[in-house]
Amino acid sequence: KIYTKQYIKQLVKQEDVKFIRLQFVDILGSLKNVAITSEQLDRALDGEIRFDGSSIEGFVRMNESDMYLIPDLETFAVFPWRPHQGKVARLICDIYKADGTPFGGDPRIVLKNVLEEAKSMGYALQLGPEFEFFLFHTDENGDPTTVTHDKGGYFDLGPMDLGENVRRDMIMTLEEMDFDIKASHHEVAPGQHEIDFESADLLTAADNIATFKLVVKVIAQKHGLHATFMPKPIYGIVGSGMHCNLKLLDELGCNAFYGKDDPLKLSQEAYWFMGGLVAHAKAITAVTNPTINSYKRLKPGFEAPVQIGWSTSNTSPLIRIPSAREDNVSIELRSPDPSTNPYLAAAVILKAGLDGIRNRIAPPAMLEQHETPGPFSILDSDKTLPDTLKDAMMALSKDEVIKSALGEAYDSYLKAKSMEWYDYISQVHEWEVKKYISKY
Ligand code: GLN
Ligand code: MG
Ligand code: MG
Ligand code: MG
Repeated sequence: KIYTKQYIKQLVKQEDVKFIRLQFVDILGSLKNVAITSEQLDRALDGEIRFDGSSIEGFVRMNESDMYLIPDLETFAVFPWRPHQGKVARLICDIYKADGTPFGGDPRIVLKNVLEEAKSMGYALQLGPEFEFFLFHTDENGDPTTVTHDKGGYFDLGPMDLGENVRRDMIMTLEEMDFDIKASHHEVAPGQHEIDFESADLLTAADNIATFKLVVKVIAQKHGLHATFMPKPIYGIVGSGMHCNLKLLDELGCNAFYGKDDPLKLSQEAYWFMGGLVAHAKAITAVTNPTINSYKRLKPGFEAPVQIGWSTSNTSPLIRIPSAREDNVSIELRSPDPSTNPYLAAAVILKAGLDGIRNRIAPPAMLEQHETPGPFSILDSDKTLPDTLKDAMMALSKDEVIKSALGEAYDSYLKAKSMEWYDYISQVHEWEVKKYISKY
């Protein structure tokens, strides 16, 4: 689809769109928007809508707070869940500074910069996410609880899976917004669900991830439930991941990960790309697993990755090579969780892989099935993902390659995450009180 300004104006009229949301994400990946009425559409399409960036997380700048929203016309979409009178549409925007240049702290710009680098090397990366999330009941005030909505388990059907209706509604809404849903099912834990969608180029994939989270939350709410992308909402049971299936395309649009003579059908580029992911694993984790809670998921025993390595069948390492027919090979990066900022995550994943190719970084030997760590194992920290957000941020601060991918966003990311860490680590948790109050 190719959208022109004229075509969007026509659609807005035809569909009787009353409000247009100009969307972007802040440094933490939260969706923000400036809503305008259709009367202001011309100004919006010409990139004349301004906002004050100083109140947006990660956008604070010393002297210039005025920023401009430059809409990406291709992202025009009408929200299907609004009433038919006075519909709401959205345009995803890039952030520009008052001097007319892109704002390097905008996550979408960060990603675009890395995409340029890939293009200059003759590559484009495709990403298809597998989204896991929980559906919880809300209390009498409408606040989320951690009481699950059903008692279903992996692939359960019918009366056990009360989430089925909600999931169906989510999928229908997503399809109305042109999402191509690959699969959806009940996940392992009660109240946990998975929806996977078709891979797309990184920018589209990141836009889709941001939109997906909004749709899932809105539809859950319509059913009186709360959908959460918090990675580990309940102690002692599995958490939610956002596995990323990756495929590298060359200039001809062919799968650059395919190597027909290799026993695993992987090309040299595929091995180097994995080498890059492994070499930068700790630093990219600071972005793909951005919350304190993310690290509660990355522990042995819950099907979440722990070891920095790769395997074909074993699901405990960072990377899995799914079985594939012919040239349809891909790499599954299993560490990301759905709390990540999709633009920054895509940027650092691509950067790590490109660095692997550029510097011909060989990955370590494949991990075997028996190398799976059991619950409570204490592992060699050289070979495992960071244990806490602090460890991950330390690794990021020492990784010049990944820092350069984040560009101007790095400083504000570091600041936001340092504050989050110190706030957390100075709390007195319920666990500590229970453990020590009587004993000492
Ligand atoms: N929930 C697991 C995770 O945290 C994945 C489970 C699965 O899809 N096999 O990554
Ligand atoms: Mg899956
Ligand atoms: Mg799953
Ligand atoms: Mg998976």
